[in-house]
Amino acid sequence: MPTDKPTFAIVGAGLAGAKAAETLREDGFDGRLVLLGAEPERPYERPPLSKDYLRGEAERDQAYVHDAAYYAEHEIELRVDEDVARLDPPQRELTLRSGERLGYDRLLLSTGAEPRRLSVPGAELEGVHLLRTFGDSDALRARLDAGGSLVVIGAGWIGCEVAASARQRGVEVTLIAPEAVPLERVLGGEVGAIYRDIHADHGVELLLEAGVASIEGAGRVERVRTQDGRAIDCDAAVVGIGAAPRDMLAAAAGLAVEDGVLVDGRLETSVPGIFAAGDVANQLHPSLGRLRVEHWDNALQQGPAAARSMLGSTESYARLPYFFSDQYDVGMEYSGYAADWDRVVLRGDHAAREFIAFWLRDGRVLAGMNVNVWDVAETIQALIAGGQQVDERRLADPGAPLTELLAEVPGNR
Ligand SMILES: Cc1cc2nc3c(=O)[nH]c(=O)nc-3n(C[C@H](O)[C@H](O)[C@H](O)COP(=O)(O)OP(=O)(O)OC[C@H]3O[C@@H](n4cnc5c(N)ncnc54)[C@H](O)[C@@H]3O)c2cc1C
Repeated sequence: MPTDKPTFAIVGAGLAGAKAAETLREDGFDGRLVLLGAEPERPYERPPLSKDYLRGEAERDQAYVHDAAYYAEHEIELRVDEDVARLDPPQRELTLRSGERLGYDRLLLSTGAEPRRLSVPGAELEGVHLLRTFGDSDALRARLDAGGSLVVIGAGWIGCEVAASARQRGVEVTLIAPEAVPLERVLGGEVGAIYRDIHADHGVELLLEAGVASIEGAGRVERVRTQDGRAIDCDAAVVGIGAAPRDMLAAAAGLAVEDGVLVDGRLETSVPGIFAAGDVANQLHPSLGRLRVEHWDNALQQGPAAARSMLGSTESYARLPYFFSDQYDVGMEYSGYAADWDRVVLRGDHAAREFIAFWLRDGRVLAGMNVNVWDVAETIQALIAGGQQVDERRLADPGAPLTELLAEVPGNR
C-alpha cells in the first residue's frame, strides 16, 4: 500500500545499527525502518568473541543486542544475509547484492570495520585465523578445544585477549609483535610493560620487536617464521593486526572518505541525509578533532546519537572515547584519548595489578586507565573533560581521593 511516511534505512546490522534502530522507534519514528546486515545473524556484540564466548564460558544468546522477536515487535524490517552492493545518493537508492533496489529518505551507514590481513606468504593457509565474527570465534574456539599450540600475531587488544583466553584454556601461546611491549601504540612503553609482564607471568612466550616473514605448512599452518629466521611450530595462528573501516560503499558513492566515512559533529556525512556511526565513522569531535573510534561504547552511543540526528536533532556527539578489556584476572577501563603525552602518572600498586594510569600533557589529564580499580571511570572522565592542570603528586597518591582533585577543577565546586 503506498504511504507518505518516510523510509529510513540502516546499512550494517551490528551494535551501532541495532541501537540506532531501537532509538528511532523509541523516539517516535513511525515510518518504514529497514535494517540490512551482511551477516547471517541478527545484531550481536563482539567483545565476548575474544573473551568468555571464545573460552566456552558464555552462551551465544548472551551476545545478541536484542532477542529474536524484538525486531518484528518494533516493526523493524531486519534483513540478514543482505549485502548492500551499491549506494546511489542522488536517487536515494540502495542496490542489494541480489539486484533488489530499495529507496530511502534518510540513511545510516554502520558498516563497521574488518580485520586487516597479513600480507606474507602462507597467510591464507588453513589454520590461520582472523577474529571478527561469531563464525571466526567458533572456528578458533574449536582449535582451543583441541589444545596444542597457538601463535598470536599482533599485540593489540585482540591479540592480547586471544593470548589470555588461549592460556586460560591451557593452550601454549607465542605472541609475536613488532612493538617493544604489547599495546605500545595506545598505552606507551611504561604501561605496556605491565601488560608484557602479565602475559609472561601466565606463560605466554613473547617475541617482541619481531616481524613475521612467512607462515609455513603443507596445506595447513605448521610453523610461523620470523624475519630474523626463528621458526615457531604451532597448530594454529591468529592474526590480530588491527582493523580497517568498511567504507567502500560510501567511497564508491562519492561520499567524503578518509580512514572511514567523514562525518560532522552530528554524524552527518558529506551528503545531507546520510549519516554514519560506529567503527566506520570518522567524526569531527567537538573537543578532540577528527577521530575514528573502534570501541564497543562508541557503537553503543553513536548509533542512538545518529538516530537522533536523523530525526532532526542538532546536538553534537561529544562523548569521550571509552573502552574496556579483560585479560586473565586483569580487567581495565580506559577513558579519553591520548595520542601524544609528556607524562604518565601511576597511582596505586601496579605490581599487584591494581592501579590507575594517567596520560598527561602540560599537566592536563588526556586519558586514564583504571586496572582492577572500579567505580572511578566517571570521575576520570570528568577530570579529562575539565581540561584543567592537576597536581601530579596528588594524582599519584591513592590516599588523595580523585573526587577531591575533581573538586579543584573550576566549575565543579
Ligand atoms: C573480537 C573482538 C573483541 C572486541 N572486544 C572489545 C572490547 O573488549 N572492548 C571494546 O570497547 N571494544 C571491543 N571490540 C570492538 C567492538 O566490538 C566494535 O567497536 C563494535 O563491534 C563496532 O560496532 P559497529 O556496529 O560499528 O560495527 P560492526 O560490529 O563491525 O558491525 C557492522 C556490521 O555491518 C555489516 N556490513 C558491512 N558492510 C555491509 C554491507 N555493505 N551491507 C550490509 N551489511 C554490511 C557487517 O557484516 C557487520 O555485521 C571488539 C571487537 C572484536 C572483533
